[in-house]
Amino acid sequence: MMRIPMSSPNLTDAEIQAVNEVLNTPVLSIGPQIEAFERAFASYIGVAHAIAVNSGTSGLHLCVIAAGVNEADFVITPSFSFIASANCILYERAVPVFVDVDPATGNIDPTHVAEAAEALSAGGKAAEHWLPPALRGEQRGAGGRLRAILPVHALGQPADMAPILDVARRHDLIVIEDACEAIGAEYRGRKAGSLGNAAVFAFYPNKQMTTGEGGMILTNDEAWANLFRSLRNQGRDVFDAWLNHTRLGYNYRMDEMSAALGRVQIQRIEELLAKREQVAGWYNQHLADVELVERPYVAPTTTRMSWFVNVVRIKPPANRDEVMRRLAEVGIPSRPYFTPIHLQPFYAKTFGYQRGDFPITEYLGDVSLALPFSGVMTEDQVDDVCRHLRRACHRERAVGTVAPA
Ligand SMILES: *Cc1c(COP(=O)(O)O)cnc(C)c1O
Repeated sequence: MMRIPMSSPNLTDAEIQAVNEVLNTPVLSIGPQIEAFERAFASYIGVAHAIAVNSGTSGLHLCVIAAGVNEADFVITPSFSFIASANCILYERAVPVFVDVDPATGNIDPTHVAEAAEALSAGGKAAEHWLPPALRGEQRGAGGRLRAILPVHALGQPADMAPILDVARRHDLIVIEDACEAIGAEYRGRKAGSLGNAAVFAFYPNKQMTTGEGGMILTNDEAWANLFRSLRNQGRDVFDAWLNHTRLGYNYRMDEMSAALGRVQIQRIEELLAKREQVAGWYNQHLADVELVERPYVAPTTTRMSWFVNVVRIKPPANRDEVMRRLAEVGIPSRPYFTPIHLQPFYAKTFGYQRGDFPITEYLGDVSLALPFSGVMTEDQVDDVCRHLRRACHRERAVGTVAPA
């Protein structure tokens, strides 16, 4: 039994009341809540259009469609991410072209993005190096076109967007920001989610704000906004009152209860982020003198960090997996974060990836450890986690109440 949860939503009576009010009406979907939530969210990010969907993954899928990504096309993206940021490319039978990350931040390395874009646009032999092993050589076939870059603002820290946007302009590529972990984060004074052609946020309960399940697409492009509204609603024409389905669509709608919950959460967003920042600050203090733990790095381009998780790196001779086991023995949960996407069994099998393909991503995947984190944690809980983490790293026997998991 874990005595501290890995994550917890931050909810008040206001959220409960807002959801209850919806339940007292007959309109549980396609109603006023979703529109109000979208308006509030667009205004917070400072982007013209916000389109609510039923998950971050659905939002990313619709962005890939809007970007004109077709079968066999290429999209440049990092492997050091949650699997959804690559799966959304596979949904359109396109190919994620992984590039390695910056060792300091864990975000996509713009130098590799530039090199990959250059090579893939040129095609031929130069492109081969960047393709998944299974698609190199004769099997590559006709191949598609490089259409988009999908950077991920990992762990609540914006990717280095300026050089990425530059590459996109040079090669006429769409930029889709996976901002699912980075609500409120700022890159050189500009909000994550306002930098690319479209961006996606997610509201799963472990994120900075939640709607249960849910996501939001942001874009300044009105035609895209209309397309997203159509695609999330079975391809129905937005301006058509009748059941006229002009394209292949999906049911990616957000319901009214979730939207009502989201409205209260986005109203409270600064409070939610401030509380998480305070908890991250406690971790930073309590881990300052733990020799074998490297604390999170915040890049100078990150003018505001949005604390999504608290991921530390476990240094040798301590071993991340062993530390995780020792923490679990004393009832403290922790997780590897991230397990590289290219080494996930489905990707390794489909694309022929193996260890060694993306060394920095793999190194980070081996040493990174997410500690329990939320905006409702107390300083005592943080202290408790940190004391046990120190013992676990320094190979001393854990003392105190041992409750086997
Ligand atoms: C949470 C998250 C998503 C989307 O997750 P859903 O569960 O579909 O809402 C996408 N990308 C990243 C990096 C995430 O952390």
